[in-house]
Amino acid sequence: MPISFEMPESVKNQSQLTQMVAEQVMRPSARYYDEHEHERPTTFIEFIWPFMKGMEAANLKQSLKRAQKEDTPASKGDAKKQSSFQVGMIHLIENLSWGDAGIYLCIPGSALAGAAIHAVGTSQQKERFLNRFAHGGPKWGAMAMTEPQAGSDTSAIRTTAKLDPETNEWILNGEKIFVTSGSLALAESDGLVVVWATLDPKLGRAGMRPFVVEPNTPGVSITKKEHKLGIRASDTVSIVFEDARIPYDNILGSPELKQVAQKGGKGFKGAMKTFDSSRPWVAASALGVGRAALAFTRERLADEGIAVPEAAPYHRLSAIQNDLLEMEANLKGAWLLTIRAAALMDAGESNSLEASMCKVKAGKAVTLITQKCVELLGPLGYSRELLVEKWMRDAKINDIFEGTGQINTLIVARRILGYSRRELK
Ligand SMILES: Cc1cc2nc3c(=O)[nH]c(=O)nc-3n(C[C@H](O)[C@H](O)[C@H](O)COP(=O)(O)OP(=O)(O)OC[C@H]3O[C@@H](n4cnc5c(N)ncnc54)[C@H](O)[C@@H]3O)c2cc1C
Repeated sequence: MPISFEMPESVKNQSQLTQMVAEQVMRPSARYYDEHEHERPTTFIEFIWPFMKGMEAANLKQSLKRAQKEDTPASKGDAKKQSSFQVGMIHLIENLSWGDAGIYLCIPGSALAGAAIHAVGTSQQKERFLNRFAHGGPKWGAMAMTEPQAGSDTSAIRTTAKLDPETNEWILNGEKIFVTSGSLALAESDGLVVVWATLDPKLGRAGMRPFVVEPNTPGVSITKKEHKLGIRASDTVSIVFEDARIPYDNILGSPELKQVAQKGGKGFKGAMKTFDSSRPWVAASALGVGRAALAFTRERLADEGIAVPEAAPYHRLSAIQNDLLEMEANLKGAWLLTIRAAALMDAGESNSLEASMCKVKAGKAVTLITQKCVELLGPLGYSRELLVEKWMRDAKINDIFEGTGQINTLIVARRILGYSRRELK
């Protein structure tokens, strides 16, 4: 499929707005929220919410229309309509993360929960759970997969969901850790969390299902707020479920108990579809941090008389100039892969390989770029006077969440070489 790397017209206005928010609202308060972990960037949240609410409404409308078309036999096989939602998200996230990656992660909206609901929810569930993000005050969505003994190996999750046949409710028990925006979603707004639980731990991935948990559910408590290395403005919590009862219809995607109980269904495949959109989002955030660090370092070095000459022969470049060009090339390479992954999704094409590829490349690139920037700027780079040391701390998470660099490299290798999960682990 041919892919345009130009910014779509529909994204241009949005990009100007997010650049302005990044420059005027986020960057000036980046250090404050780094040093005041667990405080909320309220000015940013109030500023960005009306815009996010509009995006959520448009995305929901489009998602419902798509589902309706797919359900109509006559329109099956019709040419797929090109959207620009994912490419728009990439520009938005890159810009906002240039402003500040931690504050960006406090952005109100359905986020990963929305990605899961769009990927596997029925039309009725999309309306029921996502409408709230298109109306009223700011709300957050979160996704809870990781547990103390289950990170990369998601099949090891032990949070259980058991059906009470008398009340027709699901009963959740277990603990989720490192839930981004978990407190914002459940305790500080009328949002929701998509919780991955198992119907039967013996079934491994086949037993896993996503459930929607809403605020004020008895038996759900936030037990810990993390103190972190980077993205310190971002809300990261542990959530414990003790006989937490949720309505039967809060299991995503499957209306019939028969289907729920059968092996396979929309369990692990649902998680994979969520990653197809969320991995490029993480890559985009990495790119924003990388651009911030590299542009700042280039400016500082240029002030010292170290600039990269245009079209100079390779052997005439100094070691520093060579480093700068290499960083630039890595950032551009990651950018192209990220736009490709997003554009494929907008076109309704499969993008799982590209989503993992861009995440690996961007996570690694930004980790190395920000470290190098600290190094090139000497002691000032290490000082809290500048934001460069903070960008180095903020960068690393992009190589960890939504599948670590190693796990996404495995996924890329499996898909290219045609190996199964069992053959290459
Ligand atoms: C700030 C933050 C926010 C987060 N937000 C969320 C969230 O919102 N929701 C959520 O569910 N989770 C979230 N997480 C959890 C995150 O997704 C996990 O940390 C990640 O999946 C890795 O799992 P783990 O930490 O248990 O590491 P492990 O799985 O224990 O891995 C440890 C190391 O071993 C490597 N490794 C593991 N298996 C292999 C293998 N087969 N081959 C090669 N190397 C391997 C890993 O790459 C890693 O380097 C968050 C984490 C952090 C730090």
